[in-house]
Amino acid sequence: MKHFGSKRRRKFLGGPVDNEKTSMNFPKIPPAPTSGPVDGSNSGSATALLGRDGQAVLEAALAATHAGVEQAGVEQAGVERAGGEPPADEPRVEGAPENGGTKDAPGSTAEILAAPEAGQSSENVAASEQESTDFVNAVPETVAPAVAERDDIEDTPLAREIADLTRRRSALAAEQLPLPPKTRIFTVANQKGGVGKTTTTVNLAAALARGGSRVLVIDLDPQGNASTALGVDHRADTPSVYDVIIDDEPIAEIVQRSPEFDGLYCLPSTIHLAGAEIELVSMVAREQRLRTSLLRFLQEAPEPFHYVFIDCPPSLGLLTINAFVAAGEVLIPIQCEYYALEGLSQLLNNISLIERHLNPALTVSTILLTMFDSRTNLANQVAQDVRDHFPDQVLPTPIPRSVRISEAPSYGQTVISYDTNSAGSLSYREAAAEIARRGAPN
Ligand code: ADP
Ligand code: MG
Repeated sequence: MKHFGSKRRRKFLGGPVDNEKTSMNFPKIPPAPTSGPVDGSNSGSATALLGRDGQAVLEAALAATHAGVEQAGVEQAGVERAGGEPPADEPRVEGAPENGGTKDAPGSTAEILAAPEAGQSSENVAASEQESTDFVNAVPETVAPAVAERDDIEDTPLAREIADLTRRRSALAAEQLPLPPKTRIFTVANQKGGVGKTTTTVNLAAALARGGSRVLVIDLDPQGNASTALGVDHRADTPSVYDVIIDDEPIAEIVQRSPEFDGLYCLPSTIHLAGAEIELVSMVAREQRLRTSLLRFLQEAPEPFHYVFIDCPPSLGLLTINAFVAAGEVLIPIQCEYYALEGLSQLLNNISLIERHLNPALTVSTILLTMFDSRTNLANQVAQDVRDHFPDQVLPTPIPRSVRISEAPSYGQTVISYDTNSAGSLSYREAAAEIARRGAPN
């Protein structure tokens, strides 16, 4: 097994504090109205999603989040369940891993799997989660079903986790993903940095390619992280998406095949793209340039592409606008952390403007919760707020925080190939399967 020093970062929870607030009961955002002023039939329309009073409501929820977050920052809750939320009736216990059952009677999961010592303090719960997940991932597939079937050991958190992973692996293995009749073009956008746009782009693309789709990833971030994760060359002298947008080079001459999976391609980005934002300002049809090139490429491709994912930079500049104009669907990754909803109303307003003036077909079809830690009240509360407000768009499985996901790019890989049966990979594969099952919005 490959080893890699995990980089753990402590989350800093700041912001205004209301000492009178002691609970995490945020006011619920009312469900989005079913019709909006722009396109009533389109439930994913940004305007419909935001609603007439949506921004005010979202801001009210944000204010409440600010007020309640300090409490949430210190509350650690419940025992982890990979990729899922604990049941409502399960008590949330501070320092939960101590109660986690890894020191059980003979014949317990702990003995069978030689689990590491439990007994972490609530302060290092985050670290223990990563270790716990890694540990579960390390359980051989041959052992896992045996553990899953033993009734007497089913009742420990670790056994439940292993049983859960095993069930999910089997369900995914049994399913053949449907292919869309027309190319679905997604822009993966959120003007916040570090929320999981690139990670989501490359792993969904890889999961779909693994399932038999032909997928193109367009790396529209000058940092080139998507190109790195897909193992394609993106040194400064490499022909890139810059040449497509600025010099009208055909995509077919620049696109590279990713070594990750058959049918997975990447239009790489290089550092030159950093200048494109400024160069675009004075260009003719500056918002349409990517769209024009992409449509020509898709029409002329010898074999049809099923999906295109455009990985956006963390800004709402001309590159991101080009991505919105080129796409039919927007996928918004939301990190289950404090600040998650901040900026979302601005993003939806911008999408709404694009929809009105540049691309009437644009739909916010998919929201994915990323870096989810089911043991914190904060993550659960953010997830619940997002689900309440966007019930049709949020994918059912959140992506858990996982060391495997974050270390895969350092090997020039996606987590789908790096550790395909890890909790993080399974979650991305499930998200991809759900996207394929749902199909394109009307
Ligand atoms: P963005 O593209 O929005 O800036 P990234 O996808 O680059 O965000 O993610 C930011 C950082 O968080 C990266 O270091 C990435 O490896 C890490 N990361 C993303 N998703 C996860 C996850 N589910 N678990 C752990 N680390 C993650
Ligand atoms: Mg990125």
